[in-house]
Formats: sequence, structure tokens, C-alpha cells
Amino acid sequence: MSSTPIIGRYAPTPSGPLHFGSLVSALASYCQAKSQQGLWLMRIEDVDTPRVVDGSTGQILNQLEALGFEWDGEIIYQSDQFERYEATLRQLLEQGNAYYCQCSRRILRQAKARSGPLGLIYPGTCRSKQLDSFNHSIRINTESSGITHYQDLLFGQVKINIPEQIGDFVIHRADNIYAYHLAVVMDDELQGINQVVRGADLLEATCVHLYLQQLLGFKPPEYLHIPLVRNANGDKLSKQTGATALDTSQATSLLIEAMHFLGQSVEQGLDQGTASEIVAQAVRSWDYRRIPVPKGDLY
Ligand code: GLU
Repeated sequence: MSSTPIIGRYAPTPSGPLHFGSLVSALASYCQAKSQQGLWLMRIEDVDTPRVVDGSTGQILNQLEALGFEWDGEIIYQSDQFERYEATLRQLLEQGNAYYCQCSRRILRQAKARSGPLGLIYPGTCRSKQLDSFNHSIRINTESSGITHYQDLLFGQVKINIPEQIGDFVIHRADNIYAYHLAVVMDDELQGINQVVRGADLLEATCVHLYLQQLLGFKPPEYLHIPLVRNANGDKLSKQTGATALDTSQATSLLIEAMHFLGQSVEQGLDQGTASEIVAQAVRSWDYRRIPVPKGDLY
């Protein structure tokens, strides 16, 4: 066993209550940290303030408690971190790794920008324009990004050519919102996270996170992405696709369902236990290698 303590985290976006997909992520990240005697920290990802729904942070924390989860230490809020994000934007601009960009999505579509796993691939139009800050977004110059792949604990090797498949990505939006990619990298560093467990919808975005960590001199955590929970139409369960809020009066059956989804062994009679007892058993018998990885179209 490694001598460095494992520090994992759960990082919900307070845009509504938790649904079954969020429970699967919470359980996987909790079990992965606790089965290695690690810490499980909590971070509220409220960086995109217009998406925040009043009251949902409290609702999420209550749901997690009712489901038998206990987090360690103080809760971090991204909305308290804006000064740090700002200082890092300055640093990246001064280092010449970031630049201002005046292109809107509409301009990019008109320019027939290709689409990649993270959306439109920016063709680098503003890279050498030396624009000022007025109403402009800030992008990372990925021209010389050397990262081509990384090793995910469950999915294995993930290959991405950043300049080809992702392009110069936004770290600060023209409407003055810090991008998730910047915030997540800054906050995983702040909280000392060394193992990230989260949904496979971020499998490719992780390459962008690794590049930012390299530019900022941060040690990358280990990554374990878990398969997405999908609805009957095959869409990722999310607030946008109409996922229903977890009904915590059904905590035991929901937890057992999540354990089954994650391919974990469920002892007979476990459904008679309390939520905390089920979570404790899930930790004791946890083995991430049992999580079924979908074949074919992975994400
Ligand atoms: N805030 C993201 C979500 O709620 C999680 C991102 C992450 O774990 O890095 O889906």
C-alpha cells in the first residue's frame, strides 16, 4: 500500500437535487477513498453562477447525509475561489500560455469549425492578435501541448491529441464566468486531491485538466472514471434529460441499486440494514475492478 494517504472528493454542481447518476458517482468515489483509509472531501461546484439553483446545495447535502455518507473537513465552495482563479488567469496570460479571443460560437459555426469531444475545435484565429480584455474570452494556446494520452484506472489508456481533437479551450468566458476546466484543476490542487473518481462524460476533458496541471506545475491526481447511468433513450441521466430527484425515504434500495450498477457484491439481507450500514458494507467489499465497462461507444 502506498504511504501517501488517499484524498478523494465529491464535487456536485448545485443546479438541482441529486439523481441516481449522482448517487452512483458519490458511492464510487466514497468507496474508492474509504476502502484505502482515505479522506473524502466535499466541494460545491458553483462556479457557473447562472446555473446555480437556490437551495440546492442544502438539498444535496441533506440527501447525502440521509444516504449514509459522511464527508471529511470543511466544504469548499467554488464561488469563494474567484480571486485565486483570477490570479491564475493573469499568470497564464503573462506566461504566454493564454490569450484573449473575440470569436463567438456563431462566428465559429460560420467558419465551419470542426466538432470534437468537447465541442467546436477552435481554429486559433485570435492566437496572435494580441487583443485586450474587453468583453473577450480567454483561451489556452494548445499548439505545443505534448499530452497525447493518460491512463485511467478503469478505462485504461485514453488517447487524445489536444490541438487536433480539442483545440484552444476557454478558461474564462466572455460573460465573466471562470470555466469549469480551470476551476476543477485549481480546486483539486487546493484540496490536495490525489484520486479523482467521476463520471465518464469527463474522460476526454481530463486531458485538458492534465495540460493545465502541467502549465501550472501541479502534480496530477490519479483518475478513475465510471460508466454513465443512462435513461431509456440512452441519454446520460442528468437534470437536462429530466432525471428525477433521489427519494431518500428509499435510501436502502437506492444504495443497493447503485452497488449493483457498479458491479459490487451485495450480501444477503443487506436490504434490512440502515443507509450507513449499507455504505459501510459497500466500502468493506469495494473493488473498482468489478465495475462493468461498456463496450463500444464508451461515453
Ligand atoms: N461538478 C461535476 C458534476 O456535478 C463533477 C465534476 C468532477 O467531479 O470533476 O457533474
